Amino acid sequence: MTPGRPVPPPLAKPLPDLTTGTPTPGPRHAAAYGATASDSGLVPLTVARRAPKEDDVEIAIEFCGLCHSDVHATRGEWGNQNYPLVPGHEIVGRVSRVGSAVDDFTIGELVGVGCLVDSCRECDSCLDGLEQYCENGMTGTYGSKDRRNGDATTQGGYASSIVVDRRYVLHVPESLDPAAAAPLLCAGVTTYSPLRHFDVEEGDVVGVVGLGGLGHMAVKLAKAMGAEVKVFTTSESKIAAARELGADDVILSRDEAAMDAANRSIDVIIDTVAAPHDLNPYFRTLRVDGALFQLGLPSEDMPPVNPGALIRRRIAYAGSLIGSIAETQEMLDFCAEHGVTSEVEVVRADQLNEAYDRMVAGEVKYRFVLDTSTLGTPSERADA
Ligand code: NAP
Ligand code: ZN
Ligand code: ZN
Repeated sequence: MTPGRPVPPPLAKPLPDLTTGTPTPGPRHAAAYGATASDSGLVPLTVARRAPKEDDVEIAIEFCGLCHSDVHATRGEWGNQNYPLVPGHEIVGRVSRVGSAVDDFTIGELVGVGCLVDSCRECDSCLDGLEQYCENGMTGTYGSKDRRNGDATTQGGYASSIVVDRRYVLHVPESLDPAAAAPLLCAGVTTYSPLRHFDVEEGDVVGVVGLGGLGHMAVKLAKAMGAEVKVFTTSESKIAAARELGADDVILSRDEAAMDAANRSIDVIIDTVAAPHDLNPYFRTLRVDGALFQLGLPSEDMPPVNPGALIRRRIAYAGSLIGSIAETQEMLDFCAEHGVTSEVEVVRADQLNEAYDRMVAGEVKYRFVLDTSTLGTPSERADA
């Protein structure tokens, strides 16, 4: 446990000593920030967390990354949402309690939770270790029906604690800085997964469209896999910064001559743009048998794809959703081995709304991370 960090109090009894792990039974309240409506912004809330069941791990959260998906979800950009909603799925913290059947996590261990906290565990996808594609719907870390907790709505990581089944908790290598590791739990694995799916290796050329939270992780991971990396950005101010991240080439996407010069030069593109945009100019930069993975999920329609652009070079246009639990662990271990973490700006809870606005304006290099010690203390009334 990091000295001096407040942890959520139990409902009735005193807190256990987290370093020795004396168990205290019962649910707890967690201090949190979340939305109460699509236009409420983020406000202080209190979340009820269940007492750990036999397979559960309770985590005292230290840091949580701010993903653009959190903005889409809390602002209702992806359709109806259950409020109140506490976002956050880039969670790093330390184990504070474990259930009786948990023998793979120890009190005080550095752990992480990403975008999913459960799945049906029975369908072909789950049995294949692809829980993110669960045929019965994965349980998202926030805003999902908790299939094993009376269908309560799951509440995420802008909170002082969370309780998650051990199967969906990751071991975070101690060599990684906890704040800079938090974004690996979504931005990291979401870009790692398609790069691995395409078997990116030395000699490959990877294009990255959009240099935000996901995009900058794609650059770092592709470089660590030995690839040459070309970044496409709309922001002139990011050209030098992209090179500092390791990009071999940076192309301003509105510069038509530079786009033409990149014709037929790339094997795989990771597109992370959070807004509608025309993909056809990017297809022209791909070689025969190239692929474009679209990761960004804008709320409005995209301009149509020209089938000819795909057909003429046998190009695959694909999507990809986060990564599996096993792949997330593999990615964390890969990051520890290669010294890869996120570039982060740590913010206080009272800066969250400003951070959202800055993220939407593309003004973060490259990921905001909430320091949960600034959340305040939970009240005895559970809002969510
Ligand atoms: P982010 O940090 O805001 O980065 C998005 C980047 O897109 C911006 O930095 C910007 O890069 C570029 N961009 C260009 N035009 C834009 C515009 N009009 N509005 C916003 N961005 C624009 O977002 P993120 O957290 O990386 O997430 C990116 C997208 O991926 C979001 O839609 C998010 O919901 C989605 N996502 C998907 C998955 C998945 O599993 N598929 C997982 C996580 C997130 P430049 O300045 O370089 O142009
Ligand atoms: Zn995310
Ligand atoms: Zn399933």
